Amino acid sequence: MSEPVLRLDGVSRTYHEAHGKEIRVLDATDCELHGGEMVALVAPSGAGKSTLLHIAGLLERPDSGDVVISGYSTRDLAERLRTAMRRNDIGFIYQFHHLLPEFSAVENLMIPQMLRGASKQAARERGMELLEFMGIAARASHRPSELSGGEQQRVAIARAVANKPKVLLADEPTGNLDPGTSERVFSMLEKLVHANGLAALIATHNHDLARRMDRAITLANSKIVDYAVQPAS
Ligand code: ADP
Ligand code: MG
Repeated sequence: MSEPVLRLDGVSRTYHEAHGKEIRVLDATDCELHGGEMVALVAPSGAGKSTLLHIAGLLERPDSGDVVISGYSTRDLAERLRTAMRRNDIGFIYQFHHLLPEFSAVENLMIPQMLRGASKQAARERGMELLEFMGIAARASHRPSELSGGEQQRVAIARAVANKPKVLLADEPTGNLDPGTSERVFSMLEKLVHANGLAALIATHNHDLARRMDRAITLANSKIVDYAVQPAS
C-alpha cells in the first residue's frame, strides 16, 4: 500500500490542571490517513477531537510520539520548519470561519498564498478559481461580515486548500450551520477532497455526514479506534 499522507505514531497528550489533576487525552495512539480518503472523527464533546486535530495539524506538539506527513517526521523539526509545513502541506478548517474581517473573500484566499511567495496576480487567479469551484465567485469582493454563515464557511474551506495541501483537517466544520446549509457546505467539501486527492480528517457530531465518508474513527480510552456509524433509520 502507498505511504500514508498523515501518520500519528504513538502520540500522547496529557493536560495538567490546577490541583495536580491530569487529563490524559491521547495515550500512545496511532492512526494513518491515505490520499483521497475522507475520514470522520466522531466522539463526544471533551473526548479530545480538537486536541487530536491540533496535533495532527502541527498547531500543538504532543508530549511524546510523532506526526509524520508524507513520510517526513515532524518530531524534531524547528518551529520555523513546522510553520512552513503547516502552511504548505496542511489545510485547517475551524467550526467558526476565522476569516480576517477587514479583507474581502478573495483577499482571504490570497493572503496564505502570498505568505508562501505567490505573486499577487497568481494568488488572485487561484483565489477566484476556488471561489468559482465553491459556487461563490459573485461574493469575491465582500467582507466576511457581508456573507452568510454558509458562504463564510465555504470561503474558509477554499482558504484551507489555497496552498494545495496534502492533508485537510476540519474541526466540526458544519457544526455552526443549519441542517440544509450544513448539507450543502459538506457536499462542497466532499467535492474538493475528491477532486484533489486530499487526506481529510473531519470531526463531526453528525452521523448523516459521517456515514458519507469512507470510514470513521473515534477516541476510546485515549486511543484512536475504528467507529461503526449507525445506519440511517
Ligand atoms: P473535543 O474537541 O472532543 O471536545 P478537546 O480536545 O477540546 O475535546 O478536549 C479534550 C479534553 O482536554 C477536555 O477534557 C478538555 O477540557 C481538556 N483540554 C483541552 N484543552 C485543554 C487545555 N489547554 N488545558 C487543559 N485542559 C484542556
Ligand atoms: Mg473540539
